[in-house]
Formats: sequence, structure tokens, C-alpha cells
Amino acid sequence: MTNPADKETFDFQTEVGRLLQIVTDSLYSNREVFLRELISNASDACDKLRHAALTAPSLTEDDPHFQITLTADTAAGTLSIADNGIGMNHDELLETLGTIAKSGVGSFLDKLANEDKDKISLIGQFGVGFYSAFMVAKRVDVLTRRAGEAESWLWQSDGKNQFTIEPARRDGRGTTVTLYLKDDAKEFLEDIRLRTVVKTYSDHIGFPIKLGADTLNEASALWTRPSRDISQDQYKEFYHHIAHAFDEPWLTVHNQVEGIVSYTNLLFVPSMRPFDLFDPERKSHVKLYVNRVFITEDTKGLLPPYLRFLRGVVDSEDLSLNVSREMLQTDPKLAKIRSSLTKKVLSELKKKAEADEDAFKDFWSNFGAVLKEGLVDDAGMRDRILELCRFSTTGGKEPTTLAAYVERMKDGQDAIFYMAGAETSKIAQSPHLEGYRAKGVEVLLFTDPVDEFWLRHVDAFGGKAFKSVTQGAAALDDIKGGEEAEKDNAPTADIGPLIAAVKTALGAAVKDVRASTRLKESPVCLIADEGDMDVNLERLLRQHGQVQSASARVLELNPDHAIIHKLSERAAREGAGSDALLDDAAHLLLDQARIADGDDPVDPAAFARRLAAVMAEAL
Ligand code: ADP
Repeated sequence: MTNPADKETFDFQTEVGRLLQIVTDSLYSNREVFLRELISNASDACDKLRHAALTAPSLTEDDPHFQITLTADTAAGTLSIADNGIGMNHDELLETLGTIAKSGVGSFLDKLANEDKDKISLIGQFGVGFYSAFMVAKRVDVLTRRAGEAESWLWQSDGKNQFTIEPARRDGRGTTVTLYLKDDAKEFLEDIRLRTVVKTYSDHIGFPIKLGADTLNEASALWTRPSRDISQDQYKEFYHHIAHAFDEPWLTVHNQVEGIVSYTNLLFVPSMRPFDLFDPERKSHVKLYVNRVFITEDTKGLLPPYLRFLRGVVDSEDLSLNVSREMLQTDPKLAKIRSSLTKKVLSELKKKAEADEDAFKDFWSNFGAVLKEGLVDDAGMRDRILELCRFSTTGGKEPTTLAAYVERMKDGQDAIFYMAGAETSKIAQSPHLEGYRAKGVEVLLFTDPVDEFWLRHVDAFGGKAFKSVTQGAAALDDIKGGEEAEKDNAPTADIGPLIAAVKTALGAAVKDVRASTRLKESPVCLIADEGDMDVNLERLLRQHGQVQSASARVLELNPDHAIIHKLSERAAREGAGSDALLDDAAHLLLDQARIADGDDPVDPAAFARRLAAVMAEAL
């Protein structure tokens, strides 16, 4: 361990420098939130020590009452926020107050740099925490001593590029953050201003916040109070504290549950998407308390990963305080809480969807892709999750539920048709949809990568199987309806000779060549054979290096298309394998189908040459 006797100077991590720049420049209008952030840190520090003292009671024996103390020194122009929480040692100080220990900071800052107006809400999603002190302070001192250790340390910075750490003296454990207020921030020395800010933002903090002899807050954990005594504003401020967020909670779920395992939950669904939602660790962000004592921030097993957008707390008296975090994860009581919470949250989401479909759409666009992971992970909740799912559809502008889709199905339609791809606007243009559109058959458009994965676990909804329009037979023959219905009964030209010629020309490049029933305007398309991997899934897996080579596809030809007619006549005259133009045309048809799917021609140079040859002949 480092134990330097003198003052050391460090550079902030580049990202911290950039963040500080943004914080000092753009959070101006709402800068009183710095106090909330610092009080929030102080409260977390007390929570951590209370937890540590469960197994090492000596840590708090000399000073058993946790509190947070504000001191304004008008003469010096300083405001300090002191706590008797866990404190920091030299290395912790260096690590936490010089870097940002969150993944994705770089890309977050890039995004922020390109955003003009909405910086504040973006920062809200990210949580600037401690660094918000520099909105109001020209210099910040942090004097701290880790509980159970003898040394104290002083951290100092003007928030520009560097900070220093030196040995210091502090009586007792904890942390004192002293702000040397900027000239235009002296209002935060005023008694009345401090009281108002604390009451507004930090009333729910479970430890007393003192100013002189007075306690400024209620100082009882918010979730322990009956919900009728809690205002929407109080819920919101608590959410901001617990989630380090700035947005409004989209949904608040507060319950006291009595049963085999009793617990209280106060959970929030954010109205904005947190920046680390797709972090591979899929961590939970709901804090677990046992009988008011904070245990962990990211308890595994408390909530399933597909509900990781939730923020808030769960507190239970029935879990044991004295087991390790690891043992807690396997406690069957925790599993009971999880299953009951999961059901509760899903049913609240359903209620909200029924009450306000528009608001639910906002939720769905933020978190739908995450929730759908539950279709894969949690067989027991599948039906409930399917009820909540919304999908884009060729049947209209608004996303639809599966139930509404099934309701609208045509006579003779026995499957839920879908097409999967990267973007709604692109797949909606796909040739594969032509035949379905002509018959007025709706197709769902799946654009979240996770869709491909849950489809492997969910065969059907309401007794109707899911069927990809890019795989297998088109299954359109038995379906009645559409303007084209009459025309469809007209005998289709025999393109047998062309099919034979194309097969000969393309050889192993295609799995088969067939006449299509799904095409109307386009001459060709590629589909996955029944039993083969669907086109979009294979594309996804290739992107992730999980499959190497592309499988051969079935090329479908539209018997009603002029090109196909002409070519077919020619094939009937010339026979397979003897005509250079037919050979070029076969390859061009394949390339054309690939291009319509957003892929490149098999061999771009050959494509250009063939195109020139065929055009020359035609002209
Ligand atoms: P966050 O609170 O989101 O982790 P902050 O920038 O606010 O981010 O704080 C960074 C870290 O610094 C905290 O996670 C904590 O480890 C440490 N820290 C900040 N304030 C205190 C404090 N008063 N007592 C102990 N540790 C603190």
C-alpha cells in the first residue's frame, strides 16, 4: 500500500476532465442538485458502514449514531457536508475521486458533446455525482478517514485538470467535503436556502441531516412510511436519490407485502433509458435492505435481469442480516421475493398499458427489448410478458399487441407472420412482403436482435404458430381476401424450363429454385429453406462470429413477372446450359435478390460485367 508522507499530485482521468468541463458549463440552471448528490454520497457511506459493522461491531462503537452535518462558514465562504460513514483510505480516494468507474463513459461523453439542448437530462441518466460540486465551487477539499484505520487524507482540487492527496488529521471516521463557493453561488451559505434545498431533495434520507442544532429532514426511510403520506414529489426526489437520475419516474410501485416472506418494495421504472441498459453484465440496480440496513446495490437473484431497468429498494425483515451476500443470493426466501416482485411488476405494467396505451408505448420503446429477454430466460412468465409485447406491423403505423394481431387474422390464416431485420423502414420494403400485402395479410416486423432468440423458445401465441416470411413455403394459398384475390386464381405461367436453366447456371450457389407465391412486383427473392436457419438470424450470428459461412438459400422466381416470362420463353427455346445470356441472367437474378435484402452481389465485378452484357443484348 502507498503511504506517502508528502503531497502528491495526480491528473484526472481524461473522461473526468471532459465531464467536469460539461458540468461546470451546462448544468447552471439546476445547480442546487449538487447538495442532493453530496448528501446522497454521505448517506451511502453511512449505509456501507452500518453494513460493515454487522460483522465488525467495533467499527462504530465509539460513535454509534450516524448523521450528516452541514456547516456554512460565511466569513470563509465555505459550505461543508460531513458524514460519519465509512470514509476512504488513500487508494480508495485516488481511485474514486479521480476516475469514473463506469463502463461506457467515453461513448457517453461523445454523445453528450454532440447534444446541445438536452445535456442536463443526459447527464441525469449518467449521474455526475460528486463532480457536480464543481458547479458551485471553485475549489473542493475532501478530508476523510476510513472507519477502523488511523490515517486521514486530504484531497484537493480546483476541478480543472489535477488533484492532490496528502496526509491530514481528522478526528474520527468519515468524510467532510468542503466547498469553496464561487462568487455567484454564495446563496448556498444562507440558512433558509439550505433548509429549502434539503427539504426538497433530501427529506427522505434515512439519516438525520443537521444544520446547527436542527435536523432538517424527516430522517425515516421513505419506503417505511404509508404511501398515503407520501407525495408524488417526495417519491420523485427519492427516485432521483436512489437512481442518481434526473428524469421523472414513469411508474412507481410501492407495496408492503405480508406473507410467508414479508417485504416492502419501492420500485421505479425510469422515463428515460439509462445509459448502461445493455451492459453485458445485465446488473440489477435495486438496492436490498434487511430490516432497514443496506445490504447490496446489485443483489443477484433479487430480480431477474430482464427487469434491470427498475430502480429502487426492497427491504425485508425475513432475510438474515448475518449471512454473507453470496449466501443471501441462494436463500430460498430471496427467490420467493423475486417471483412475487416479478409478478407484481408485470401486472403493474399491464395495468398501465390498459390505462394509457400511449404512455405504455414510451415505456416499450425504452425497455421493450430488455423485457423480451424474459421470454427466453423465464419460461414461467412467458405468457405474461407476451401480453405486454408490442410490435411494428405492416397493418398500420401503431405498434400492435399479439392479441390484436390474432384478432385481425384473415380467414384461412393459421400463423402469425413476421419478418425480422435490422430496421423497420427497410424490411417494410422487402419483396418478401408483396404477396402478403396483396392479400391484405398483416406481417409483424421484428427489429430487435432479441426477437430472433425468443422465437426459438416461443412456438405460438393464442394457438397460432409464428412463421417467418423469409423461410419455407409462403403459406398464402389457403388465405382468402385482398383485392388481388380474383386475379390470383388466373392460371400462372409454367416457368419449368427457366427453373431448370437457373438451377444449372447457379449450381451450389443456391439450395433450390422455385416458383414463388409470395412475390407480386419483384421478379425474385431469397428465402431460407424450411428447417434451415432464418435469414436474419444467420446474419446476426455471422456479425457476432458465431457462424462462419452463409448457408445456400432457395431462390424464388415470380412467374407473373415480365422478366421471368421472357426468360422462360427463351429457356424453352434454348434449353438449360447452352445459352450465355441465360447464364448471365441467372446470376443477375440471384444478385438482385441479394441486393434487395441489403446484401452485396456475390461477386461485384462479375455482376457489373454481366449487367453490361445483358443490357447490350437488350438494346
Ligand atoms: P457514485 O456515487 O455514483 O458512485 P460519485 O462520483 O458521487 O459516484 O462518487 C464516487 C465514489 O466516491 C463513490 O462511489 C464512493 O465510493 C466515493 N465517495 C463519494 N463520496 C463519499 C463519501 N462521503 N464517503 C465515502 N465515499 C464517498
